[in-house]
Amino acid sequence: MVKVRIPAPLRPKADGQTEVTVNADHVDEAIHDLVSEYPDLQENLLDEDGELQRFVNFFVNGTNISELSGTETKVNDEDTLLVLPAVAGGDSTSHRNGGEDSGSLTPDELRFYGRHLILPDVGQEGQERLKRSSALVIGAGGLGSPTLLYLAAAGVGRIGIVDPDTVNASNLHRQILYGYDDEGKKKVHAAKQRLEALNPHITVEAHDARFTSENALDLVERYDVVIDGTDNFPARYLANDASVLAGKPNVHASIFRFEGQASVFWPDNEGPCYRCLYPQPPPPGLVPSCAEGGVLGVLPGTLGVLQATEAIKILLGTGTPLTGRLVLYNARDGSFDQVDIEANPDCPVCGDDPSLTELIDYEAFCGLDQHDEALNGNEVDVETLARRQNDEGLVLLDVREDWEREIVRIGDSLHVPLADLPDRVSELPVDKDIVVYCKMGGRSAKAVEFLQSVGLDAYNLAGGVDAWSEEIEEEQPAY
Ligand SMILES: [Zn+2]
Repeated sequence: MVKVRIPAPLRPKADGQTEVTVNADHVDEAIHDLVSEYPDLQENLLDEDGELQRFVNFFVNGTNISELSGTETKVNDEDTLLVLPAVAGGDSTSHRNGGEDSGSLTPDELRFYGRHLILPDVGQEGQERLKRSSALVIGAGGLGSPTLLYLAAAGVGRIGIVDPDTVNASNLHRQILYGYDDEGKKKVHAAKQRLEALNPHITVEAHDARFTSENALDLVERYDVVIDGTDNFPARYLANDASVLAGKPNVHASIFRFEGQASVFWPDNEGPCYRCLYPQPPPPGLVPSCAEGGVLGVLPGTLGVLQATEAIKILLGTGTPLTGRLVLYNARDGSFDQVDIEANPDCPVCGDDPSLTELIDYEAFCGLDQHDEALNGNEVDVETLARRQNDEGLVLLDVREDWEREIVRIGDSLHVPLADLPDRVSELPVDKDIVVYCKMGGRSAKAVEFLQSVGLDAYNLAGGVDAWSEEIEEEQPAY
């Protein structure tokens, strides 16, 4: 018995069945058997002379019969014959509302996805669903590389990549998306090139940017599923919170040396989120990063493929996602384990009474001291201040006059006019970074010089409140 899979557009003419079995030795015979059992299919499959219509494709076990022996192709028991009306150049039912936007497949795509099309859980409907779907991959590194390759190969129609980095030779042992010649290129651009070469039927959107509290929600909301390929805690919490707030499934994996873990965080599907599992990040320095601790190059491959698998399942709406379960992989033992994980009703972002309803400063939340990176020299730019504004280790000092503060100010700050500073210097904290500002940076530069001379850690806000109003809080009044 040969299985004949009937695509959705033709099902009304086959009593709504998705699969029919026929007794046949050749494709030709199978189709005629099918038509004699369901005469309404005649015009869709055969022309007046009994030849196959030219707007229908037939696949035996995923291979187009045009590449085999045409209608003479032999079929054996357990073989699957797939009937696929073409969507261009013909008059098939699926073409009526067709075109790229509706997600119907072109003949080229039918060839590309042949092995998916005969898979019961995918089929033509599933493949079209993938084509209409979208995924955002945060981080195009070790996890992102295999994930992106498989999402592209599977035909996920629109793939977004967000990453600010360039390809470095030390990436290549695990970031298999790139080649030796890509060194120095922006990852998102090299990735887009590679993925579109792999599958020209998809769209790849390159977001050459750091994933930040400013752009996260906007990005996440534009895609159906989020894949967390990040490598640091601030980005992980940010990816989690943005996904929860936007109601998107967050496909998670993390790796270290020889071990990895994966899950799907999806509170809208009754699962926990990352914060339910890990309410607090470890203190900085306790857990070394992959850059410090090393990682077996193939390990992110295994975990990234799991992420791609979960994302594709979610987009297809098939199978059981890893929601509520955490898979643990130990490459050294070759062992997989899994544990159940539960939603925490007190979770600050997905719980019953969430306290976290918008994105926060994740660097500060994770206790990262950016001293060396951000506050070197005597100056701080307004972006750095915006990131660190809520940092407990930092205070703002306004050295302008009272009347100027009436017009505009930056957040909470201490206030000591420049002229009073020598008399009131004892009011300032000795154990914190003091960022000093005035209108444009002139008076504050003098203040910084003085404060440093008495041993305080003082930095000048470059451009002053004017720059802040121009770049950070645009609705602030100017003067
Ligand atoms: Zn939660």
